[in-house]
Amino acid sequence: MKKLGGVRLSHHKGTQDFKTVRLPLPKTVVIPMVMNMGAPCTPFVKPGDSVLVGQKIGDTDAFMSVPVHSSVSGTVKAVSDIKLANGRSCKAVTIETDGNQTVSEEVKPPVVNSKEDFVSAVKQCGLTGLGGAGFPTHIKLCPKTPVDTLVINGAECEPYITSDYREMMECPDDIIEGIRLILKWLNIPKAYIGIENNKPEAIKLLTEKVEKYPEISVYTLPSTYPQGAEKVMIYNVLGRIVGEGQLPSDQGVIVSNISTAAEIHRYIKTGMPLTERRVTVDGDIVSKPCNVIVPVGTSVREVLDFAGCDTERLKKLILGGPMMGMCGFDLEAPLGKSSNAVLAFEKISEPKETNCIRCGRCIKACPLKLMPTELEKAYHARDIKALQKLKVNLCMNCGCCTYVCPASRKLAEINQLAKALLPRT
Ligand code: SF4
Ligand code: SF4
Repeated sequence: MKKLGGVRLSHHKGTQDFKTVRLPLPKTVVIPMVMNMGAPCTPFVKPGDSVLVGQKIGDTDAFMSVPVHSSVSGTVKAVSDIKLANGRSCKAVTIETDGNQTVSEEVKPPVVNSKEDFVSAVKQCGLTGLGGAGFPTHIKLCPKTPVDTLVINGAECEPYITSDYREMMECPDDIIEGIRLILKWLNIPKAYIGIENNKPEAIKLLTEKVEKYPEISVYTLPSTYPQGAEKVMIYNVLGRIVGEGQLPSDQGVIVSNISTAAEIHRYIKTGMPLTERRVTVDGDIVSKPCNVIVPVGTSVREVLDFAGCDTERLKKLILGGPMMGMCGFDLEAPLGKSSNAVLAFEKISEPKETNCIRCGRCIKACPLKLMPTELEKAYHARDIKALQKLKVNLCMNCGCCTYVCPASRKLAEINQLAKALLPRT
């Protein structure tokens, strides 16, 4: 089967062989009440309250959301409005840490005897996809159509990021047990772990680990970007096409990020909700690139300082990967549950945009077979009908078209703006 297209990128996985370290406890954390796609939580605490690690400090009745827990023990200093790195405003709880990291009595392994218990436990864990998108995990575990395959996304196809890789190398048993829990409680017969072939050590380790579980297989994927995009991965592993307006479950598939699967196992085993995460810190002004475990709510500055970043020279800050991550503007912004990388650069290339030479490279590179050149024209003409006909709504903003364009046209960015022109359904 021919694999879906994409582009070959320099990997820059300079941190992949560094064992994960733990950030010294920050003096203060700022925990946002929104860390995922979905409804914001309402904070339960007020200034002066004492809080403990793993204590629930915010929640909502909305299904499309997860509760928020304290990542530290200490005293609440403020409940205020803040601006997140993505520009969204939300309430946040500022906590001064006491250095003791006392664990809350609320933290105990959940009792799971049924699928409903399992899904509820995953929600109570506060778990959102750890691959970067931040989709609440329990929602993926409630498909409306029968599912026969779980695909575990271990591609980590963006340059620089190695946090999932370190999860594979350091916590393979958590990953396998997390997969087995999902298979068991959702009654799914088969799981594939998709890993790019630029991670041979992880492929070897996980292949050994799954030997005794015939229901789990490791699937080696070519290292082309965006191998980790859900639709691309489902096609490349299973040959199934997730059509327009469909969810993966419409094709009998659930996709989960590999660190998310591991986190499910840790929560079911210990009852400790998601209060910390592994973050890759790298870039040309970072003198000690690393993977570091940080409490949720730690500031970008704290993490960069730890990694020896000379922030005076900072010209570009990226939260996430260089292809699909977000530019950051505020070093004091807190890292949330879906923060998998902080990249800091001094050297940036901003080539001048020139006229399209009709080379067709953008069309060839698009994994979804869209026509970026035509989309660009339709956007400039504000031609909504043409944008709809050209399926701009399918664009996943992977950036492959922009990356390959010799005229440096900002095609992916245009598509984002074009999508905003479409009437809301
Ligand atoms: S058109 Fe969209 S999906 Fe296609 S390459 Fe560009 S950004 Fe990616
Ligand atoms: S890659 Fe750039 S120059 Fe080539 S057709 Fe696409 S927009 Fe035009």
